[in-house]
Amino acid sequence: MGLYNTQAIVLRSINLSETDKLITFMTQRYGKIKCVAKGARKIKNRSHAAHLPLTLLNLIYFGKEQQTLYRLNHSDIVESFQDLRDDFSKLYTAVYFAELVDAMVPEADQEVGIYDLLVDSLRALQQDNGRHLLLALFELRLLDHAGYRPELNQCVYCRSLAGGGWVGFAFRRRGIVCDPCSRQHAFDLRVTAGTLSYLKKLLTLDIRWSARLKFPKGLEEEIDRVSHRLILAQVGRELKSYPFIKAMANVG
Ligand SMILES: [Zn+2]
Repeated sequence: MGLYNTQAIVLRSINLSETDKLITFMTQRYGKIKCVAKGARKIKNRSHAAHLPLTLLNLIYFGKEQQTLYRLNHSDIVESFQDLRDDFSKLYTAVYFAELVDAMVPEADQEVGIYDLLVDSLRALQQDNGRHLLLALFELRLLDHAGYRPELNQCVYCRSLAGGGWVGFAFRRRGIVCDPCSRQHAFDLRVTAGTLSYLKKLLTLDIRWSARLKFPKGLEEEIDRVSHRLILAQVGRELKSYPFIKAMANVG
């Protein structure tokens, strides 16, 4: 029986019984895990706020190694991201980040970059108003950390380097298609060289400085579309929170 101590973000919390909850965490040290929180639904339980999705916690849990379900022992709130909860358009984006991590990361996957990406992105989102950029940035970086980095430098068919002008993009092949190959192979859409260079920037940009980078008007939609269709090709379905982000963008 092991005891585990780590920081973690709550991804999801569902009611398991009259008194218990099942909580999915993205932990800093042990990847994505699930814990049963006994008595978490009792009215007198003060840890209620600690089990809200998007909360950053110090977490102690226990269980056998390699098992799929652990028992929550103790949790303290480190950061509740209250500013995100007070702003609906930011909240939907943050919920989408959590949903996407839950959908793409297998349990106990030890890639630490994903935890850091999630925490850094929630902090940047809290301070930022360039939400579009952060959305595409998060999608591309998560693909990269999960082992699905898109090929933006070479044609996915013949490996020739991308030239200027337009290039084709094939989402199932996860990368760009050069001009000669685009006459023989199927591709989904054409993107401008400008969009391509912003996509590359998003893969390497320090998230803390993301507020300083602005997409030129007109490219925003194309960049968003490419990153999101890459996600759809990988996840295979639209996540619940995504339409709300788009709806909020239209209202704002
Ligand atoms: Zn080619």
